[in-house]
Amino acid sequence: MGNNVRVRFAPSPTGALHIGGVRTALYNYLFAKQQGGKFLLRIEDTDQTRYTEGAEDYILEALKWCGMTPDEGVGAGGEYGPYRQSERKPMYKDYALKLIEAGHAYYAFDTSEDLEKMREDLKKQGNPAPQYNAITRQYMKNSTSLPTDEVERRLAANEPYVVRLKVPRSEEVKINDVVRGWVTFQSKQLDDKVLLKTDGMPTYHLANVVDDYLMKITHVIRGEEWLPSTPTHVLLYKYFGWEEQMPTFAHLPLILKPNGKGKLSKRDGDKLGMPVFPIDWVGATAEDSFKGFREMGFFPGAVINFLSLLGWSPEGDQELLTKEDLIQAFDLNRINKSGARFDYDKAKWFNQQYIKSTDDTELAAMIEPLFAAAGYDTSKYDFSVVARLLKERVVFMTDFVEQGYYLFEELKSYDEKTIRKKWKPENRAKFEILSADLAGLGSFTAEEIEKAVKAFMEANSLGFGQVLPILRVGLTGTMQGPPIFEMMELMGQEFVKERMGVVFDTFDAQHAAK
Ligand code: GLU
Repeated sequence: MGNNVRVRFAPSPTGALHIGGVRTALYNYLFAKQQGGKFLLRIEDTDQTRYTEGAEDYILEALKWCGMTPDEGVGAGGEYGPYRQSERKPMYKDYALKLIEAGHAYYAFDTSEDLEKMREDLKKQGNPAPQYNAITRQYMKNSTSLPTDEVERRLAANEPYVVRLKVPRSEEVKINDVVRGWVTFQSKQLDDKVLLKTDGMPTYHLANVVDDYLMKITHVIRGEEWLPSTPTHVLLYKYFGWEEQMPTFAHLPLILKPNGKGKLSKRDGDKLGMPVFPIDWVGATAEDSFKGFREMGFFPGAVINFLSLLGWSPEGDQELLTKEDLIQAFDLNRINKSGARFDYDKAKWFNQQYIKSTDDTELAAMIEPLFAAAGYDTSKYDFSVVARLLKERVVFMTDFVEQGYYLFEELKSYDEKTIRKKWKPENRAKFEILSADLAGLGSFTAEEIEKAVKAFMEANSLGFGQVLPILRVGLTGTMQGPPIFEMMELMGQEFVKERMGVVFDTFDAQHAAK
């Protein structure tokens, strides 16, 4: 295939781009990059009634955040533009007319009342899903049923019309989908889709096929919800005489709710307290506003890694993959047919792994401003050490401040259960000695601190289990914190002395209250 591969992401700017759309973009992007091909962004905005202000900017911003910059298309330019369908409007009509000339499409003059009546009548006759098709077409008002002069008169009088595809009554339309294999449709299941609307705008089907052809798209990689439209597209390729250039189709599996029951919807985000959009979307109302992965504190690399595995898996069992790894490993043939469960905990796990694997100095540069913004004096610490010690348990960047606040201010809480079990007021005097020992150390390194603590334990016949939890909870409030000796080195001698000077009173008070 070489570098002739051209794929497109073709969203409609109707609102925030759902995370499923981001996955579609990602698979297109990965495939293009791997094949040395081009990744295009085309904006499909022919449905003016659903056009939403800000949606296009949102799409561009989301793609940028994910690191999927289009090679061509809206925002990038290119020789097959314009890439916004509304700007291509004049062109589509000619294609619709060509189909009429060739006998594969026709003018239809039916009013909405006519259409309504046809549907009602058919429903009454027991047809639950009435269609405009090879049968109904015969008695509706269109250029296949009306006399030629009547059609000409109507056109000359500028009567409103749509152009419909003339779908044959019984024909098998076969699609060899990369993901699903051969899928067969019967043409009688398809209706005579509108190709050109009364306002002269093309519908999705016409614009999509014409543009894929003109933009030399080689592979159409899109969500499963478009599979039912594909036979219509295949017929269009055939009727235009473009069969040779028909792209390869790959329809991606659905993304399912975390419990696996049904399709993930944009409302699931709020319901289940998780983002289902890449970045925040501020709509006109609160119900129409959504939280994004970005604002929740996710790294784009983690989101991409998570999304890449929603419906695809590489060979082998490696899960942590950088964008470069993904580009290398991506393979359309390894996309699953069955729906992929959206497991938010897994997304968090990826973020955690991502933070863990990020270099300490890089993290330091990111977290220092977070601490500063929280009002802390960040000059006190070497943040690459802060990063190294705290990163093991952090899922989101914001957790750094939440988990490391005790480096700057008094403990807000502490693990009471541990203290209840481990704090013995009769040992307080001993801990005071330890405190003094530590305050007297000539060099306050983790190693020296550890030595001093061990010597103290031996001298006082105390075990690790009696001493370390007290130090941990006393200094950081939690048993889950980082290695305590290294933490103490970071805190510094003066700080440790001060904190140990106050917490024992608290522990005593808690003990007395038992
Ligand atoms: N405009 C369609 C969408 O919003 C594009 C579907 C396709 O890729 O053909 O998803």
